[in-house]
Amino acid sequence: MLRLDFDNRFIDELPGDPEPRNFIRQVRGAAWSAVMPTPVCAPRVLAWSEDMARRLGFDDGDMQDPAWAGVFSGNRLVPGMQPFAVNYGGHQFGHWAGQLGDGRAISLGEAVTAGGERWELQLKGAGPTPYSRGADGRAVLRSSIREFLCSEAMHHLGVPTTRALCLMGTGEQVERDMFYDGHPQMEPGAVVCRVAPSFIRFGTFELPASRGDTGLLRKLVDFTIDRDYPHLAGLPAGEVRDAAWFGEVCERTAGLMAEWMRVGFVHGVMNTDNLSILGLTIDYGPYGWIDNYDPAWTPNTTDAQHGRYRFGQQPQVAYWNLGRLAGALAPLFADPAPLQEGLQRYVVAHTSAEREVIAGKLGLADCRDGDVDLMQDLRGLMAQAEVDMTLFFRGLMDVDSALPRLASVEEAFYDPAKREQHAPEFVAWLGRLVARWADDPLPHAERRERMRLANPRYVLRNYLAQQAIDRAHDGDLGGVHELLEVMRAPYDDQPRREAFARRRPDWARRKAGCSMLSCSS
Ligand code: AMP
Ligand code: MG
Repeated sequence: MLRLDFDNRFIDELPGDPEPRNFIRQVRGAAWSAVMPTPVCAPRVLAWSEDMARRLGFDDGDMQDPAWAGVFSGNRLVPGMQPFAVNYGGHQFGHWAGQLGDGRAISLGEAVTAGGERWELQLKGAGPTPYSRGADGRAVLRSSIREFLCSEAMHHLGVPTTRALCLMGTGEQVERDMFYDGHPQMEPGAVVCRVAPSFIRFGTFELPASRGDTGLLRKLVDFTIDRDYPHLAGLPAGEVRDAAWFGEVCERTAGLMAEWMRVGFVHGVMNTDNLSILGLTIDYGPYGWIDNYDPAWTPNTTDAQHGRYRFGQQPQVAYWNLGRLAGALAPLFADPAPLQEGLQRYVVAHTSAEREVIAGKLGLADCRDGDVDLMQDLRGLMAQAEVDMTLFFRGLMDVDSALPRLASVEEAFYDPAKREQHAPEFVAWLGRLVARWADDPLPHAERRERMRLANPRYVLRNYLAQQAIDRAHDGDLGGVHELLEVMRAPYDDQPRREAFARRRPDWARRKAGCSMLSCSS
């Protein structure tokens, strides 16, 4: 059996909860609680990420080894593992929610690879913890497939994210009321083994701040800088370093938002407990992917009425969340000015990241002011004419600059009548684009390559994930495996996999799982 080396810094360096028993409670003065995963009756590996496995040193044999299946579903530990759940709070839908914590995620430890990479291994759905707040600590197969696939899809799209090593079946049933409408059903249970350099969230800092526990807050900040931002560790301790760190958190978050907007990802629940301090996409719940371009869309039915976390709102929400983080860090600063400056870094970084995205998607060497308008006009048109975001942008690289017509973006239109109605505006817009190309230094081949790498051919469309889930419920994991494979090369044209690049079929328009999701998972 492969030997993993562990160096569990989070629990070695931060104060833990002295209570060893596993019952629901408020935990004060501690960053984590020791807790054992609850064993499951029939652990089985349903899928794994070859890419992530290799990175950790596992080969296919290891991943199929029943001993590791036991580990990845919470039935056994290997030497060096010290399971714990992290204490954090958060603002949920704009309101302070108090202590939340890892209610169903249990970290096994921080593995350090031969190459010196640090990866925390965490089981999501591994049973109750002191932070379960009356819920069961488990996860269902459908939401676990979604988290597993999307983590890896995002990684291969080049979007910062937590990763997923494997998807485990538990052989147990879990009860869920999918739309909270009084129709609970038993569903197959699952565990995802998630992997990230750090699972620390904005809410990790908010909780001690809300309790006036500046000592713990101080320790958490020092720890995070030391472990997760080591390049800042050389700065003089105190406000200078704290400010540099907060500013970098702001910049990373800004970059992440630009990336979500580039690929058409809607997180769905951007509560402050779901924002990573490393600027990673974290906690895949009722997320979704834009089919027809609609900045007002959210897949999360719980948020349908207000659309707080709708696609087009995400950069603003991230800024609001950073404001909550700044508020939590305020006790460490004599004067709020450095935190204000950090937030300003968000604005600057987001503007420049957004311009970088515009240049990439439109195939330009750099983004001029007029290009921002060009993109804005396109977005307006796409929304009006019901145009598939992914297909349209991908098609742009095949637009003939001598004769700009709709031919290469034809398949992006959902509604023939709207296509007819708006065709002249699109042709005019393409005319503006090719005129701009004529005034841009990039050679043709380089332009195409730039566009190819900014405009994925494949994204994890909601209905594709749902089809894989439906098959998995019938005992066939083939759909999960194939989708995982497709999403390993989202910028390549994959022969014989054209079906995965098509626009959403009509039947999926308003189907549960395909366009409507809830937090029930
Ligand atoms: P989420 O909105 O999924 O990020 O979850 C918010 C909080 O609820 C986190 O503290 C989760 O750990 C917790 N939670 C969600 N689902 C469960 C569950 N089935 N059992 C225990 N805790 C849960
Ligand atoms: Mg969460």
